[in-house]
Parts: sequence; C-alpha cells; structure tokens
Amino acid sequence: MNEIRVRELLDRYGLSTAKSLGQNFLRDLSVLETIADAAGEGGNILEIGAGVGTLTSLLSKKAKKAVTIEIDRHLEPLLIQEVPAENHRFIWSDILKCDLAALQKELFGGERFTVVGNLPYYITTEILSLLFASIDCWDKAVLMVQKEVAQRLLCAAGTKEYRALSVITRAYCEGELLLEVPPHCFVPAPHVHSAVMVLEPKANRPDEGFVSFVQSGFAARRKMLCSSPAFKQRTGLDREGISVLLKAAGLPENARGEQFSFQEWIRLYELAQNMN
Ligand code: SAM
Repeated sequence: MNEIRVRELLDRYGLSTAKSLGQNFLRDLSVLETIADAAGEGGNILEIGAGVGTLTSLLSKKAKKAVTIEIDRHLEPLLIQEVPAENHRFIWSDILKCDLAALQKELFGGERFTVVGNLPYYITTEILSLLFASIDCWDKAVLMVQKEVAQRLLCAAGTKEYRALSVITRAYCEGELLLEVPPHCFVPAPHVHSAVMVLEPKANRPDEGFVSFVQSGFAARRKMLCSSPAFKQRTGLDREGISVLLKAAGLPENARGEQFSFQEWIRLYELAQNMN
C-alpha cells in the first residue's frame, strides 16, 4: 500500500481521532486518488468531512473551487497548515445544519457542485436524506459509505436490504459501486467494510415530495400499504382510497410497500398527486 502516515501527522499536531465523530481517516493513497479522479477536474467540489486533509488536498488541486464542511475545530491548526490552496475554503459546521441551496448560491455563484466525502458513518442516512432533499444543487456524488449501505441503496425490490432510501436513490439517481475498501485502508480500522459509490441525478426524476411519500410507505414495513397509518396520513387517503390508488396503478391491494419497484413507486406518487 502506498501509505499516508496519518498517525504521524496526528501526533505532530497533538491530535487523536474521535470515534464519536466517525473519524476513520483514509491512509491508502490509491483509494484517495480513485475518489479524487471520480470527482473529476475543473468543477466545483463540496467535500463532507476533512479529516487530516489528504483527500481535501487532492480535490482542491483538480477543482475550480473546493469547499469542505468539517465539524471538528480541533483539526483546524493541522488543516490550515496542510491544505494551503487558494481555491479552497473550510466551513466549520455540522453538515446537517447546512442549507445546501444557500451554499450553492453563496460559494459557487449558483453553479452545481460535486459532493465528495468519506462519510462519517454515524450519520450516513441523514446526510443522504439531506443530499436528496437538495438534489437540484449537485450533479454528482462520490461517497464512501459502509459496504452494506451501498448495497442497500443500489439493490432491487423484494430483497431484504430494500428500504425507502433504496427506492429514492434509484428513482433520483443512476448509481454505481466504484470500489470496495477493506478496513486496513483506514486509521483507525473500522469494524465494517466500506465501498465508494457514485451517484448522478437523473434528468427526469420525481419532485422533492417523493421522499416523504416513499418514507411514509416504508414506515410500517410489515403492514399492507392500505392499512399503514403513516401512508394514510401522508396521502390524506383512507383505506378505501388507498385501495383505489393501488388498483389504478395496477398493483395488488394487499401489497406492502417493500414489494414495489422504484418505477411502481413513481407511478403511485404521480397517481396520488392527481387524487388530491
Ligand atoms: N475525508 C477524510 C478522510 O478521507 O480521511 C475524513 C473522513 S472521516 C470518515 C469523517 C470526517 O467527517 C471527520 O473528519 C469528522 O470530523 C467529520 N464529521 C463528522 N461529523 C460531521 C458533521 N456532522 N458535519 C461535518 N463533518 C463531520
């Protein structure tokens, strides 16, 4: 392995890693380069989580403009020294509190950006939900996530991994699993295997209301859709109304949400909008 000496770097600045912030830093240079290459050249980059700044440096070398959102200010002295790029800026904040549409306007002059991140795994779902809710702001996402999460997001209906986020991911994006990354590529090594996935928003996709529509349909996974309280509340339909909706979509009345493909979910959403 062509290795970044992460421990030495941390020691030099008297730092240690914080497990509570999902700090597993990449030390394998070829993995870092694969992520940076997938992000592409000459565009706007929004990085989530700087760590010791290794990926940040590679990204800013290729970007027109790069911005990194990092929550941990302890890393600031190290990052200010190690990432001296004119076209790069840090924002010391919690990514989940960021308004991506406002950042797009303020930092990238309204242009779309590529999202890149070796994500802090403790908030993967929340970050993905934020990205999907702001899908008009970005044109590509290159994300390191837990391998199981990548498989779940890119899997088909009827599998045990299938979740609301699988439907939303496939309805909104073309997705590809780029690379599997074993634990020894990180410092400290996590207990799980990881994977880099690339998401690109589709040109024709449902509007943002689709996210809560699908989430309500998966709120009670074991229940039939027509008797799901969350789905009734979200659609404003009673049991009979939901049966009519399912029939109109050509779907069985006693089906559960996890049985539908993402195309079937899109059809249901479009029909439900016309019923209100
Ligand atoms: N990019 C680095 C790398 O590849 O080695 C660091 C990746 S590490 C898995 C995740 C990073 O996200 C850490 O630097 C951590 O401090 C930061 N982080 C954790 N929670 C965050 C949050 N809510 N908002 C922004 N950054 C966060």
